Amino acid sequence: MKPFAYAVAGAPADAVRRISGSPGARFLGGGTNLVDLMRLGVESPDLLVDVTRLDLDRIEPVDGGGVRIGAGVRNSDLAADPRLRVAYPMLSQALLSGASGQLRNLATVGGNLLQRTRCPYFQDVTKPCNKRSPGSGCPARTGVHRDLAILGASEHCIATHPSDFAVALAAIGARVHVTGPAGDRTLKVTELYRSPGEDPSRDTVLDPADLITAVELPPSGPAHRTSLYRKARDRASYAFAVGSVAAGLGLTPDGEVGEVRIALGAVAHKPWRARLAEAALTGRPATVEEFRRAAGIELAAAEPLPDNAFKVTLSQNLIVAALLELAGGEAR
Ligand SMILES: Cc1cc2nc3c(=O)[nH]c(=O)nc-3n(C[C@H](O)[C@H](O)[C@H](O)COP(=O)(O)OP(=O)(O)OC[C@H]3O[C@@H](n4cnc5c(N)ncnc54)[C@H](O)[C@@H]3O)c2cc1C
Ligand code: SF4
Repeated sequence: MKPFAYAVAGAPADAVRRISGSPGARFLGGGTNLVDLMRLGVESPDLLVDVTRLDLDRIEPVDGGGVRIGAGVRNSDLAADPRLRVAYPMLSQALLSGASGQLRNLATVGGNLLQRTRCPYFQDVTKPCNKRSPGSGCPARTGVHRDLAILGASEHCIATHPSDFAVALAAIGARVHVTGPAGDRTLKVTELYRSPGEDPSRDTVLDPADLITAVELPPSGPAHRTSLYRKARDRASYAFAVGSVAAGLGLTPDGEVGEVRIALGAVAHKPWRARLAEAALTGRPATVEEFRRAAGIELAAAEPLPDNAFKVTLSQNLIVAALLELAGGEAR
């Protein structure tokens, strides 16, 4: 590993100042992704600015009923928060489905959101990869792509975003607070991530010196409280998703869909908010036929490759199974 300097930031502005104008500097959260990438030679920073000692480790209510989660909160602490387990079950379930207990003890909210793709070519510096080395090509298209994207990809990259947590946040409608050289700003989680387009080297719209300071959840509604996260993976634990769904459902007294929230994981460069399926379901009866119809509408735009075509059916089945479970005895 290339030698690097290490500094502990005392305040968010200090962290931003240390990274600004230093292309070789990186923020360090729990290090569970960044340090792995340094060992592989994918990342070779000359300065790590530790942001885990900032005053960003609280989970607190905000005016109007939402919740603000500091970017330094560890994934284990967030998953265990009793208020969030009741108000947003899909969030706790998504966190607990990821990595291992030891990793979740280290991993932070900010680091989880900005973890990099697990595409095998991205992690192997002996191979071309447009994301790691722009213009070098995308061998995944004709090579190993079983775990890669079926929605929103480009000819330049078919990587998927690996975070389970981000999928739940997309379904919840969370927002991300950022401070950077240009000041403070807030954006929706669904606006944080980019499609790969012609420049897959950038995963998000953030600049390198933008520090995530918090994630904010909206007030908990029926489709937040009646929600779940389901993940399909090759092993029962300690494995990234092959497909996943975060879903929430609020029914009217007549058994129709009043509010529905659906996001898919492991299918795109970003957590995929299934807005077409949501629109197709709203106001419709909560029946298995309607759930299937909506899932089909969402996946109609899929452009799978030979070895990941199974993800189309898998994602549809995840949506239908999640909604049936949420509707319980009321689904016909
Ligand atoms: C074996 C293994 C299995 C795993 N399985 C899963 C899984 O099933 N599901 C899943 O979702 N994840 C999984 N993970 C990934 C894990 O969740 C991430 O490694 C972790 O969440 C990253 O958080 P961190 O704080 O350690 O980030 P770091 O590694 O410290 O940082 C990651 C990136 O975020 C940047 N960063 C950190 N904090 C901030 C901030 N506040 N503002 C701006 N930038 C910041 C860093 O510069 C870096 O680029 C797994 C990891 C391993 C090693
Ligand atoms: S899919 Fe993206 S990350 Fe993977 S090899 Fe292609 S360009 Fe690189």
